[in-house]
Amino acid sequence: MKVILLGAPGAGKGTIAKLLTDYDGSVQISTGDILRAAVKAGTPVGKEAKAYMDAGGLVPDSLIMKIMEARLQEPDCQKGFILDGFPRTIPQAEDLKKLLTKLSITLDLVVNLDIPREVILDRLTTRRTCSNASCQEIYNIKSNPPKPDGTCKKCGSPTIQRDDETEVAILNRLETYNQKTAPLIGFYRKEGMLKDFSSLSSQETVEGIKKSLKK
Ligand SMILES: [Zn+2]
Repeated sequence: MKVILLGAPGAGKGTIAKLLTDYDGSVQISTGDILRAAVKAGTPVGKEAKAYMDAGGLVPDSLIMKIMEARLQEPDCQKGFILDGFPRTIPQAEDLKKLLTKLSITLDLVVNLDIPREVILDRLTTRRTCSNASCQEIYNIKSNPPKPDGTCKKCGSPTIQRDDETEVAILNRLETYNQKTAPLIGFYRKEGMLKDFSSLSSQETVEGIKKSLKK
């Protein structure tokens, strides 16, 4: 499948992408992963990206597109790909459209994970992460709690609420999403590519996506 996943932070993009890759061998592609891989491989674009990252700046879209172009042509993309968290803005979506045309790639579907704001807030503010950098096990104080004393079941280190998972931080992230990324919903709806999925069960959403792909 060749799919774009859209959804606010906490909408479950990561979990759904993982289930979809298990289904048909498509690869999950996120901007962060391909940037890190290009930097690690020391490719010319990777070196260029590293210079921006080392300077604490944002990697420009033009460079991200070059890295994306190379990534989409790697052999493991033959079975398909799931773009997770990309594109993030309308200009990126327009660039991606041109790139896919250039590579003769046709998207199957743009999935919009339409999850209510209060569900997202609840999911993210109840998350706890193991403070041990080499463990980083993720817990949820409601559905998958750490030990009663708040320590990690795997390694015994204290679990913490990450700075970007406090209520204030999450409201900020949702605001950024609504400003920059939510307009993509309109963009892809106009292209006739978009389908909304609002189930709170990842499994059910994945079944829905599979059905849409078969049509
Ligand atoms: Zn741990």
